[in-house]
Formats: sequence, C-alpha cells, structure tokens
Amino acid sequence: MELIVAENINKSYQSGEVSVKALKDISFKIEVASLVSFIGPSGSGKTTLLNLIGCLDKPTSGALKIADTDVFGLDRRKAASFRGKNIGFIFQDFNLIPVLTVYENVEYPLLMVQDVPVADRNKRVMTLLDAVGVADQKDKYPDQISGGQKQRVSIARALVTKTKLVLADEPTANLDHESAYMVINLMKKMKDDLGTTFIFSTHDQKIVGEVETIYTLEDGALTSREDTGRVKDV
Ligand code: ADP
Ligand code: MG
Repeated sequence: MELIVAENINKSYQSGEVSVKALKDISFKIEVASLVSFIGPSGSGKTTLLNLIGCLDKPTSGALKIADTDVFGLDRRKAASFRGKNIGFIFQDFNLIPVLTVYENVEYPLLMVQDVPVADRNKRVMTLLDAVGVADQKDKYPDQISGGQKQRVSIARALVTKTKLVLADEPTANLDHESAYMVINLMKKMKDDLGTTFIFSTHDQKIVGEVETIYTLEDGALTSREDTGRVKDV
C-alpha cells in the first residue's frame, strides 16, 4: 500500500532577481512501513523536499498525496492540523526543550492530545524511553546528556503520538558513527514493530547502506532509485 505519491514536484525560490530551482520534476512513491533515504550533497534539495513532505511548505507546481490526502491543496491551518495528526519529526539539532526533563520532552506531544489518560501516557513514554535506551536518563535535562542520547530522546518524542510517518532531515549529522548506526537501527526496529514509515535525508554513504530504498538527489533532480531489498543488521 502506498503512503506517499509525489508527482512532478517543482520548487523554485526567488531571492531578489534570482530564481533558484531547488527541485526539478520530482516523482516517487513510498510504501507503508518502509525505511527510505534521500541522499545527495549539500544544496541538492533534500531539506526542500522534506519540508514539502512535512507540509511545512508548498511547491511551485506538482502534486503530493499522503495517505490519500492532497496535502498541497490544504490551507495553512488544515496543513498544520494534518501535520500534527500524521507526521512526526526528528530534527538534526534534536530540538529538545531545555527546561523540560527527558521524560517531559517525550511526554509533551501527548499533552497536546486530550484523550490520553495519565497512566497510559506514563506507559507510552517509559516504553519508548526504554526502547531507545535512555530510560535511566529520564530525570535529566537535555544539557546533561550526550548528543547520541539527545537524538534517542528526539526519536522517542517523534514516535510517542504513534504517527505512521516520521521525517528526519539529516538526523545523524551531529552524531558519531556508532550513534548514527544506532539511530538507523532504531528506525528499522520501530518500522518493524509499529509499521511506521521513516523518511530521512543524509549525505553519509555508509549510513544509507542500511536502508531499503535510496533515492539520490543531484542539483534538484531525482537521479536514481536503488532498492537494496533488505535491511542489514549491524
Ligand atoms: P540540501 O538540504 O540538500 O542541502 P536545500 O533544499 O537546503 O538542499 O537547498 C536546495 C537549493 O535551494 C540550494 O541551492 C539552496 O541554496 C536553495 N535554497 C534553499 N532554501 C532557500 C531559500 N529559503 N531561499 C532561497 N534559496 C533557497
Ligand atoms: Mg539540508
């Protein structure tokens, strides 16, 4: 089953007199419960594309369906609501709230959802903190833990509302090699356990060896799709 269908997406940025074509006629399909990477050098359009999939921006032309919703057709308010219900984000710089503990950071998105009773909330937060291996850090504040641990917390936070789609723009860029592998393996595990689809961008060639589908972006164009047919264990 397809979760995402992108057709002929173009995106230009106007800065003064100059128009930059950041995405050129991009089309692809992504299945439910997959682990997909967009790879390409700096400036190739990765962030622009993820912002469009994340309903954070609109294209110059083209169509994008996520779970059968024409997301480019949504107005700002509806796009925000769709995003809140359907998409989780993992940020490169983690984006944890410094005045909240690890536990509270992960709990925070659930507090926005009215119908989660406190016992359920506690169970979900602790299950995820445990799954990402930072349960013992739950009472610490973000500046008291390492970069790898922060990224684990941000993955738990992205998953806590159980959205079927999680986006991550260069989630491993600020991590050492071991932590970067941990992040990819964690995505793989969560995909298998929960049926979550993960889409992330990277320019780290070693990391993409671990995913199922690799799309390559070059100068705004999608130049290849490689299906590795498996996710390697490391
Ligand atoms: P990547 O994430 O792969 O580094 P980006 O999507 O950030 O690539 O950028 C793609 C192209 O679009 C680059 O040429 C970049 O300079 C340009 N670009 C990105 N954002 C803007 C913007 N807000 N205004 C003007 N140009 C932009
Ligand atoms: Mg980028």
